[in-house]
Amino acid sequence: EWSTNIDPVLQKELERYVLVTTWDELLGMVDTVYNWGRRSSLWPLGFGLACCAIEMICTASSRFDIARFGAEVFRGSPRQADLMIVSGTVTKTMMPMIARLYDQMPEPKYVMSMGACASGGGPFKEGYNVVSGIDKYLPVDVYVPGCPPTPQALLNGLIMLQKKIDGEKIRHAPWYRAEVERDIPIPV
Ligand code: SF4
Repeated sequence: EWSTNIDPVLQKELERYVLVTTWDELLGMVDTVYNWGRRSSLWPLGFGLACCAIEMICTASSRFDIARFGAEVFRGSPRQADLMIVSGTVTKTMMPMIARLYDQMPEPKYVMSMGACASGGGPFKEGYNVVSGIDKYLPVDVYVPGCPPTPQALLNGLIMLQKKIDGEKIRHAPWYRAEVERDIPIPV
């Protein structure tokens, strides 16, 4: 409350130009703006592995229009991407390259596991040559079910990821982690 002795003109100016808040509220506002910027401009890494990739490519077409979510800028370089969509069958031969691409992406970064193959091996589970779930090697943020998932399902996964980003706090940012700890060695 303003003092009753304060000059009315000064009081009017203070009310117009001075914002008083708490440190927690200020950080909350910073989080909101920062998260809004990141969730509205996720740039996926442009690569596909198998049949699921065709559905991912369709998602970028005008019919489904992933641009509505600010995520149409598929990047050719991991240095310019912050979203890895693992779309398809992950062979043990391919896994080291995927892990290396992930490590080359700057933080903050996210991983979507698209389809039954990426999430658990799909029809090739228990096979000699396919990884039974990429979450053994990468920290997956969102799983999109299906074989293959439809473009709508992929967009739903993107919305789920946006909601997850909305709830993040810079103070507790996961990208402060030093590096991914992999319990299981990458197959070579
Ligand atoms: Fe193909 Fe199904 Fe595997 Fe996707 S989940 S890569 S559609 S077999």
